[in-house]
Amino acid sequence: MKTNKRTEPSVMSRIRRRPSTLAPQPPTPDTQHRSGLEVFLQRAVELGAKEAKLVPTSQVFTADWVRLKCQYGCGAYASSRNCPPYSPTPERTRRILDEFKTAILVHGDKTADIRKIVVAMEREVFLAGYYRAFAYACGPCHLCKECNLGGACRHEDDARPAMEACGIDVFATARAAGFPIEVVASRDGEQNYYGLVLVE
Ligand code: SF4
Repeated sequence: MKTNKRTEPSVMSRIRRRPSTLAPQPPTPDTQHRSGLEVFLQRAVELGAKEAKLVPTSQVFTADWVRLKCQYGCGAYASSRNCPPYSPTPERTRRILDEFKTAILVHGDKTADIRKIVVAMEREVFLAGYYRAFAYACGPCHLCKECNLGGACRHEDDARPAMEACGIDVFATARAAGFPIEVVASRDGEQNYYGLVLVE
């Protein structure tokens, strides 16, 4: 029987052309990008955090009820420009989050100054070229004895609204990232605090 040598490649040549599944794959733009951002996770720890993780902004959750908790039950409601009703609404926060892909979620215990950590990180991330970097802190702003509600912030470089003040469901967001968070039922219960830095 006559065979056509040009259209029937040998077994060896077919083996050689098959891509090896064991060969190292070149880094994708996504993995290169994440490894570039991972230096900031270590930086968060150096600044006083327990840990930090890169999270997709689709896993940062907002909800209307969060603002309700500020309005009814928080003594700091309306006490500063960084609290409701002055801080961004959950709807606006959702739109802002959707303009970003990646954020750094910062976890600290009761000894960590989350506001200082995320503000420092916002600056460092910005200077690294992520020009849209923005930080969300934790808890009401206490930088002034009395907030300048009618005018400009007196500490515009250091004051940032809390995640919860902008309608972010901190419980759902922390749990989705695998971080611990529970209702603190007693004064000696474990306390976990979170801040967020939008990166890009
Ligand atoms: S830094 Fe002062 S002026 Fe600015 S939001 Fe905080 S309390 Fe208000």
